[in-house]
Amino acid sequence: MPAVTSLAAITDGRGGYVIDTTEVRAPGPGEVRVRIAASGLCHTDHQSLGWEGPMVMGHEGAGYVEALGPGVEHLALGSPVLLNWAIPCGRCPQCTRGSANVCDRSMGVDPSLGSPRAGEGHTRWQGRAIQRAFNLGSFSQYSLVRAEALTPLPATLAPERACILGCGVMTGVGSVINVARVQPGDCVAVVGCGGVGLSAVQGARIAGAGRVIAIDRHPAALERAREFGATHTLLAPADDPAGEQLAKALQAITDGRGADFAFEATGAQGLAFLPLKLVRHGGTALQLSGAHGERTVSMFDFWWDKRYVVPLYGGCQPERDFPRLFCWVAEGQLDLDRLISHTYRLHDLGTAIEDMLAGRSAKGVILFD
Ligand SMILES: [Zn+2]
Ligand SMILES: [Zn+2]
Repeated sequence: MPAVTSLAAITDGRGGYVIDTTEVRAPGPGEVRVRIAASGLCHTDHQSLGWEGPMVMGHEGAGYVEALGPGVEHLALGSPVLLNWAIPCGRCPQCTRGSANVCDRSMGVDPSLGSPRAGEGHTRWQGRAIQRAFNLGSFSQYSLVRAEALTPLPATLAPERACILGCGVMTGVGSVINVARVQPGDCVAVVGCGGVGLSAVQGARIAGAGRVIAIDRHPAALERAREFGATHTLLAPADDPAGEQLAKALQAITDGRGADFAFEATGAQGLAFLPLKLVRHGGTALQLSGAHGERTVSMFDFWWDKRYVVPLYGGCQPERDFPRLFCWVAEGQLDLDRLISHTYRLHDLGTAIEDMLAGRSAKGVILFD
């Protein structure tokens, strides 16, 4: 089986990228080559411009099975599939206890489990083998992945809509349903109403939350949050670095108690501990932005009985979660169509990134032909 040429976005590792032709080889044992139909854009893709390059960008994709390697039995040629960047091994203690999002193989805990990567030389550019973001590299016409990275899509859910389930939507909805386990009637605050935050708002509505309080700096983002199920909105004060004014405003609409759960989904690392200020005694603060580096927090913010959680990928357990998300989409409970506010061609990736950073897009999606 021959290699295929594939137009792809490749980071240079110094803040820039090029759109150029790569070569994607035929699948080996346990591998599948996917013709990518669409790929969503995440803040992580912007960050990946500074990762070690050259590397094919993108990690939130969906497409069609184009070629199957030996031993892959459960997928059919031409069938639509969703790519999942937390590629589970399916047999380590984390996978078997239902925590596939932190699989020992994908986290590099147990080298004897092998690698979630496709074998060496899967993608070549300018005559040399290169890597892909999250072992997927979905900003490319073709991607060669391990079969465990793929979930079959129902015939009624086109890859062009489904692609955003594979990172942003899973992270937002899963953090509410799987990690926080929000119950009917609970009071939920969501800080930051981009793709992940709006998905958390939808998750809270699906869970039957009583009050869903959306918080953002942009009035337009708050308008959007109302469409997705927010019952209350708060415009974040401009000059409030410690979040004191915001906490007061939230107290005023929660009978002086604070929220049961507060989710931080701004992508702003400095706000990592803000949700602690927004929850009641015994409440749970969740930080979904993947903030890293050193942050300072006052111990008073933990008073009393508060919990602080940094979930990865909404606790994604692919076999359990993706079929459930497909179901909610089919029932009209989970709205993907309005979440995908902008679509682009691969050559417009720069514009897509600008729209995301400026808060103009809820979720941008790159469409391939
Ligand atoms: Zn992502
Ligand atoms: Zn595993």
